[in-house]
Amino acid sequence: MGASFVIADFNDDVSIGNDLLIIFTDLDGTLLEPENYRFDAAESLLVSLKTQQVPVIPVTSKTRLEVEHLRQILSSTDPFVVENGSAVMVEPHDNRFLIPATHSVAPDSELASYQLLQLGCSYAQARQGLQAVATQLGTTLQGFADLGEAEVERLTGLLPNDVKRARAREFSEPFVTPRHIPPDHVKEVVAGQGFRVVLGDRFSHLIGPHAGKGHAVRALTQHFQSPASEPVTTIGLGNSPNDREMLEAVDVPIIVPGRNGPHPGLLGKDWAIAPFPGAKGWAEAITSVLEVGAVMAQRPSS
Ligand SMILES: [Mg+2]
Repeated sequence: MGASFVIADFNDDVSIGNDLLIIFTDLDGTLLEPENYRFDAAESLLVSLKTQQVPVIPVTSKTRLEVEHLRQILSSTDPFVVENGSAVMVEPHDNRFLIPATHSVAPDSELASYQLLQLGCSYAQARQGLQAVATQLGTTLQGFADLGEAEVERLTGLLPNDVKRARAREFSEPFVTPRHIPPDHVKEVVAGQGFRVVLGDRFSHLIGPHAGKGHAVRALTQHFQSPASEPVTTIGLGNSPNDREMLEAVDVPIIVPGRNGPHPGLLGKDWAIAPFPGAKGWAEAITSVLEVGAVMAQRPSS
């Protein structure tokens, strides 16, 4: 199957002009290459966005410890969203965003070093929820806590230190997707127990009822302190169906394709598609938004 390249305008009513920009981005397979987690092709653009004070906000299923580790590598001090939209974290002195202090965090908690907006539940609640869902489904659900480090390492292919960070859950529990149960039934039972589930091919995530990548993006956008009330345009980039809610919540949604094209689960919305997979596509799509107000999109020719 060949592919043609066209310029895809985003929504007609979006004109970025001199708007302030906020970029929300998934990490794995979007900003980071799917195979090796590298982002070389986006590095110079990230530096330039930082100089221009454009926030580049990771929105990911990863934990705080995982994102903190990546932020060091990315030299980022921008806000970030963890555990599938369970919590938004902003540096205390980042006055581009002002998060009302509605959550009491123990002063000795590592969370106390951020402006925190918690949308999801506690980890203990997620664990209890998973147990209740398993009981009602009449099956065993294996969460990260049940699997243990060695098993998570085997199933994910992560290195031991990365496994430790991935297992340091604060708001949600990943579990092995029960493939023998229809997804709609899992969702129904989860909702009945007062939770949400983000279903994936291998792992799914049990999150609190008010968590979600879309909720987090909307909340963070609301708390953006636009100087002199200048208009704001939000850009979102993602590569898989768990990014759909985030892409629906932004002004300029961009799909970053995989090696075999865009994920079928994201098609049907007429969203722009970056011209390459991973960091290269990420950087080119944003550059064309900045330069020409449109995305060089790849559209399957058949
Ligand atoms: Mg991804």
